[in-house]
Parts: sequence; structure tokens; C-alpha cells
Amino acid sequence: MYDLIVVGAGVWGTSAALAALRQGARDVLLLEANFGAAEESSAKSGGIVTALLWNAQDRAFVERSRELYREAAELGGDGSVWRRTGMLTLGGPKERDLLEGRAAQAEREGATAELLDGGEVRRRFPDLDRLGDDAIGLFTPDDWHVNPTAYAQAALGEARRLGLTLRTGARVVGISARVGSAEVRLQDGSVHQGARVLVSAGCWTRKLLAPSGVEIPLRPYRTQLSSLRLGSVHRELPVVWHLPTDIYLVPEGAQDILAGDGTEYKESDPDAFRREGDPFFVESVAERLIALTRLGDAAGLRSAWAGLCGATPDRRPLVGAVGPSLFCACGDQGIGVMRGPAIGELAAQVALGAAQEGDLSPLRLPAADFPIRGGFTLD
Ligand SMILES: Cc1cc2nc3c(=O)[nH]c(=O)nc-3n(C[C@H](O)[C@H](O)[C@H](O)COP(=O)(O)OP(=O)(O)OC[C@H]3O[C@@H](n4cnc5c(N)ncnc54)[C@H](O)[C@@H]3O)c2cc1C
Repeated sequence: MYDLIVVGAGVWGTSAALAALRQGARDVLLLEANFGAAEESSAKSGGIVTALLWNAQDRAFVERSRELYREAAELGGDGSVWRRTGMLTLGGPKERDLLEGRAAQAEREGATAELLDGGEVRRRFPDLDRLGDDAIGLFTPDDWHVNPTAYAQAALGEARRLGLTLRTGARVVGISARVGSAEVRLQDGSVHQGARVLVSAGCWTRKLLAPSGVEIPLRPYRTQLSSLRLGSVHRELPVVWHLPTDIYLVPEGAQDILAGDGTEYKESDPDAFRREGDPFFVESVAERLIALTRLGDAAGLRSAWAGLCGATPDRRPLVGAVGPSLFCACGDQGIGVMRGPAIGELAAQVALGAAQEGDLSPLRLPAADFPIRGGFTLD
């Protein structure tokens, strides 16, 4: 019997499996439906890591996650796990108070954040040549871009060294749990037994738990990104988040850029959602890019895709016990890569009885319908 069975090898599940082994669990089994780790939402992500979040607990998760990303980069010897890009959050007159408030807060918390007027933004980042004089920018130089797949590979390498059993192509179709033990059934008919099971299957978690009679308040919603090749090489653009048009840009190499956000505030079925980017989204994101930089004029589409994020009623993650020997960790709100390593670690500790779930209990709120609201927002 395994000490812990973890279902789902995205950033949250791989982090939980590694943390459990470090916590002293002897036998840990990680089950992943795909043939590789971190191929679902984790792979679709923009990879933005910022402390500019509305919730203090989330900012603490980001800080702990940064330590774990750094460590994974060292363990795996992979320099692509994280890089410091800085982030420039841009607003117009309407967002001035909000950005000034965030700058003051960052200062109180010891983070570096600079307020820049429109002219200064254009001087520092000449590619943002179409930004108006009435713009205001908040530059947070210590923000990052991460590669979640590279992180997951490094975390898995370390977890395997500590004795992890990883099974890919292993789709879980049933879980039955009672006091002291649980059974996990796979599509191929095999059954695995563990002292406890942690379901960190991202947006599939609610569906996976439902047949066991567990209802959690999680609503998957679709969000999109496009990858564009700019007309020419950019001059060291940071990550850019333009609040008035709700677009974010993530530079990838000298001439390519990821552009979002195409979020739909309605529920999607994780087994039947459209994985391609919508033509309307691609067109609208290109228009928003052109409004910021002439580099957008000749930009060409490389690809566009959609992935899922999981909404909860209070936009806080669902981490902890949902029954005897049964735990879950989900509810990423679209900011789950930046907090994932820390939340995975917490979930493992809670499952092993080494930490309390505190105010994140998955059963703290009823599973009834609730409005879907984005998590990557300043308010
Ligand atoms: C377009 C887009 C952009 C984003 N940008 C950012 C960003 O810039 N920064 C940020 O912090 N976050 C971002 N996010 C959110 C981020 O991607 C997620 O929060 C994060 O990946 C969640 O990780 P996870 O491990 O919980 O889920 P996932 O990565 O989805 O992992 C869940 C795993 O469970 C597996 N699974 C499901 N069902 C089963 C089953 N029955 N049996 C076995 N395995 C199963 C799946 O195959 C999958 O591998 C973005 C998301 C999207 C879609």
C-alpha cells in the first residue's frame, strides 16, 4: 500500500508528490492520464510570476513558489525554468489610484515597484511607442517568467530519486476512500491502494470526485493565448499587462510574444472544450497589440490555444480533506503556475497530517452555482 497516491501531474501534483517524499512519505504513487507530465493547463500558461496580487496569502504562495522554482532549476540544471523579466502594469487615468495604491503596498512589503508616467514608459521601453502621455505604468523589476513543463520535469527527476513511482497514461476512473485507506481504479482496470489519496487533477478534480459523493465548488472556465511573431526584433520588452484593454504580453525570445487574455466567464466542460483559439480572440488581441506598439503592425500568428482555469466562489484555492483519507488541491483562478509549487507543497503536508488546511478547506463553501470571476486582477 502506498503512503500517498497523487492524481494529476500538473505543476500542483508534481509539487505535491515531491513535497510528500521530502516530508518523509515512504511510497508515493503519481498517476497522470496523459503520456507526459504538465501537458494540460500547466503547459498552456503564460508563465507569469508576480507578487502583484490582490490577496496577501497568494503573495506568500508566490514567494515560496519562487524558492521552489529556483531550487528546481538548480536540481535539474535547466536555466529555462525561470527568468527575471520584470513586469510593467499599465493603466490610464481610471487606473491611476489603483496603481498608486499598489506601488505603496509593494513598498510596504519590501518589494521594488516604480511608478512611471507615459513618457517615461516610452523612454525606458521604446517599443511601447503608441502609449499615450496620460498612461501610468507600475514597473516591478523582480517579476518572472517560468517554464512550467521544465519545472515539472526537474521536480519529477528529484522525486524519482527519492523513490517516486510515476505512471503516465494512467487515467483514474474511480476512487473509493474510507478511514485509513483508499482505492484508486484506472481505466485499464488496475486498482491501487493507498493510505490516502490527493486529487490534484486541475479542472477535472470536481468531475473525478463527484462519483464518490464529494461536491466541491469548482467551475472550469476557458482562457486563451496566442503566440505571435513580431514584425521585427523587440528591445527587451518586459512582461506587459495593459489594464484598460485587458491584454498581457509575454516576450518569448527576441521576436516572438505570447498575447492574452481571452477569458470566457462561463463554465466549460473539461472533457469537451474547444482547445483551439477562437478567430475573434486572435483578431481582437492583435488589435490591442497594435494599439500599444508598431511592432504589432506586421505581427503574424504562430498559433493560438485555449486551456482551462478553475474558479471558486471566493477565488481562493480548495486545499484539504474532502472525506476520510481523501484530499484535493484545485481552484487555481488562472494564477496557479505562480502559486503552484507552494500550494502543492501545502496540499501534501495537509494530506500527511503535517499542516492544517486553515481557511482553504474545499468544503468551506457550498458547491452551488456562483459567478466566475478572474483571479489575475488587482482588485
Ligand atoms: C491560457 C492560460 C494562461 C495562463 N497563464 C498563467 C500565468 O501566466 N501565470 C499563472 O500563474 N497561471 C497561468 N495560468 C493558470 C495555470 O496554467 C494553472 O493555474 C495551472 O497550470 C494549474 O496547474 P494544475 O497542476 O492544477 O493543473 P493541470 O496542469 O491542468 O494539471 C492537472 C493534471 O491532472 C491530469 N488529470 C486530469 N484528470 C485525470 C484523471 N482522471 N486521471 C489522471 N490524471 C488526470 C491532467 O491530465 C493534468 O495533467 C494560465 C492558464 C491558461 C489556460
